[in-house]
Formats: sequence, C-alpha cells, structure tokens
Amino acid sequence: MKKLALHWKIIIGMVAGVLFGLLGAELEWKTFIVDWIKPFGVIFLSSLKLIAIPLILASLIKGVSDLKDMSKLSKMGGRTVGIYLMTTVLAVVLGLLAVNLIQPGANIDPDVVAKLQVAYGGDANAKIEMASNQKTGGPLQALIDLVPQNIFNAAADNGNMLQVIFFAIFFGIGLILAPEEKVKPVKDFFDGFNEVVLKMIDLIMLYAPIGVFALLASIIVEAPSADIFQALGKYAVTLLLVLGIMTFAVYPTLVSVFTGRSYGSFFKGIAPAQLLAFSTSSSAATLPVTMERTEEHLGVDSEVASFVLPIGATVNMDGTSAYQAVAAVFIAQVFGMELTLMQQIGIIATATLASIGSAAVPSAGIVMLVIVLEQLGLGQQMAAGIALVFAVDRPLDMCRTVVNVTGDATVAMLVAKSVDKLHEPEVRNWDDHYKEE
Ligand code: ASP
Repeated sequence: MKKLALHWKIIIGMVAGVLFGLLGAELEWKTFIVDWIKPFGVIFLSSLKLIAIPLILASLIKGVSDLKDMSKLSKMGGRTVGIYLMTTVLAVVLGLLAVNLIQPGANIDPDVVAKLQVAYGGDANAKIEMASNQKTGGPLQALIDLVPQNIFNAAADNGNMLQVIFFAIFFGIGLILAPEEKVKPVKDFFDGFNEVVLKMIDLIMLYAPIGVFALLASIIVEAPSADIFQALGKYAVTLLLVLGIMTFAVYPTLVSVFTGRSYGSFFKGIAPAQLLAFSTSSSAATLPVTMERTEEHLGVDSEVASFVLPIGATVNMDGTSAYQAVAAVFIAQVFGMELTLMQQIGIIATATLASIGSAAVPSAGIVMLVIVLEQLGLGQQMAAGIALVFAVDRPLDMCRTVVNVTGDATVAMLVAKSVDKLHEPEVRNWDDHYKEE
C-alpha cells in the first residue's frame, strides 16, 4: 500500500486532536487531557525549539560560507530585506483597509467589554509588563540589541535569535574571507553539523502527527467559552479575511507571477509547514520544516534557503503585522477614538517595526501590540484594550503564524528566482528519508 504523505498524517492528527478536545470539553476531561495528553504536545514543541538554534547556526554559517564571495552575499541580503519589507507593508495596508471598511469595533456591547476586562485584565497586565521589559533606552536600542556580547548567552535563549543570526552571518563572512585551505576543516565541520541537524528534524517529524494531536486537543479543552468568541467574532473575521487574502491570493500570485509555479504545486510543497505553524503558533518551531519543504519541495537552492529562511522566521512576520494593525484600530474603535489619516499611516511604520521585533514564539504579537497602541496614544486604554483582544488571541495567533511562515517561503522563492537558484523540486518525504537508513 502507498504510504500516506506527511501532510495527510498531520491533518489526520489535527482533526483527531480537535475532535478529541471537543469530546473532552463535553465530558469534562480537562484535567485528564492537560495531565496526560498535553505533555506529548509540549515535548513535540520543545524538540522543535531545541533544534532551532543549532539549525540557525549550522545552516546560516554553511549558507553564507557557500556563497564564497561577498558581492553575492550583499546582493542576496539586499533583495531579502527589500522583499521582506514590501510584503510586510502590504499586509499592514490590507489590514488597515479591512478594519476601516468593516469597522468591527463600532457597535460592540459595553457589557461584553466589561466582562472581558474582568476575565483578562490580569493576563493583559502581564503582557504589558513583558513589553515594558523589552522596551528601549533610545531609538537605536534595536540596533544595539542585535549585537550580542557573548554568543553562548545569546544562544541560551530562544528569544535572542536575531543575535544568533548576527553571529552566524558574521562567522560565515569570516569563513569566506579567510584563506580557503586553512579554514576547510571548519567549513567541513559545519557542513557535517548541518547534515546531522537535518536528520534530527526528520526524526522529530515522524512524531509530528502525535504531537499536533496532543497540542490541538489541549488547546481546545483549555479554550474560553463560545459566547466570548461570538462577541469578538467580527474582529476575528476581519483579521481572518486579511490573513486568508495573504495566504490564498497574495503569496500564490507572487509565486506564480515571478516564478511561474502553479498554485497547487506551491501549496503542496509548503502545506506541512503551514499545518505545523498552525498547530505550534511558532515560526521558530516551524523553521526546520519550512526549510526542508522550501528546499526539497519548492526547489529553492540551499544556498538561498539557508540564508533567507532563518532571517525570515525571526523578522518577517506579515501575519503579525496585519494583526497588530487590525487589533490597534479595533481597540481605538471600541473606545470611540477617531484615528486621523496620519495616525493610520503611522501604524504602517509601527506595526512593521513591531512585527520585526516580535519573537517567533506563541503570543509574541500581542506583547508588541503594546508598542503600536502606545504610539497611537492609547496608553490610557492599554490594559483594557489588550484584555479585549486576549480571549481570541490563541486561534488568531495560530492563523497569523501560518501567514508568517508562508510569507517566508514565498520570499525565499522570489529571491532564489532572482539569483537564478530556483530548481525543479526533488521530491522526497520524511518517510523516505527514514527508510534510506
Ligand atoms: N506566533 C507568531 C510567530 O511565531 C508571532 C505572533 O505572536 O504573532 O510567528
């Protein structure tokens, strides 16, 4: 019998997880699911996070040093950053258009607002505090934070991925510039290290269907009640519309126009990464799979993928930026605040920067929303505003992470095409990798 493809196994795991979660909620099995099922999801998530830093180090050092010359690096670097910025700004603009047209915050029931504030005020304050810890001395703090003082400290915290990226690119540049015969053993070491990490990812992915089953069952059983979802329905639908347009129209169109690849082949290639992004709510945890799919199933040369994708997972968050724009304007609408055109244009800049600054982990977007709200002059209503959107944040986080990951893969394809490094994909799947042994 033909073996089931990985994305089908993951879909079956997800659907079974949702059904089991709904059944568990109905039969009041919450404690059982949290104690006995959720840990298998947590282990899956931890193993993906475990591999993220070694993967970034190995693949970026290998990727940069494979380029062999600095002009290639700066060409690719410039295109990567340029296209990433363009897609992010596009997402924010779409978000602003939708939230202004649909006006989800216009007629919201004040009772619901009060109820949400009682329920989520504490959580909101915790997020605001996290944001103020991240907050900066001066306007160039983000630049200062990019350069680690110590690579081991940086690599010891998954929230510091940008610093690890900085080190890896810097190290790769050193490898390019040093005399080839002297650094060959170092380069061979990182090539080999990269292979080992990729094998570890194959092994983790064999466990993915069980992992997503456990994650989704526990998310469902821990979710707030349905009437809260209804009250925030219009806001959620507005954002989902924007995320849907990005995923199903903007990215495949960009791919088809610039690379000639069909809609179907793009989704077939990237689907497992999207499903995993949805289940884990973390671009960083999904990165190993995004890389594997983009290289092997979308045909992006590893030279490009290993440079573009780790950076993208950390800084390119189109779903998060659209979310921050929609949520900020929604909160302003609920509190009856009219935003001027200039303020809305300001959101384009702040949401773009806030999404770049968001870590690639669950709920990072809502922490950085604080900064967008502050810029808008909603400091007074901050706690109330965050409490308002908190209840539906997890499902929206799952969806915006799908957009973040799809955006990274799209840009990797565009950059690869522009430097003539997009090949016909060589299709293998995880089961085959495993069978090769
Ligand atoms: N969870 C998102 C990600 O990892 C970030 C966010 O919270 O928007 O891409």
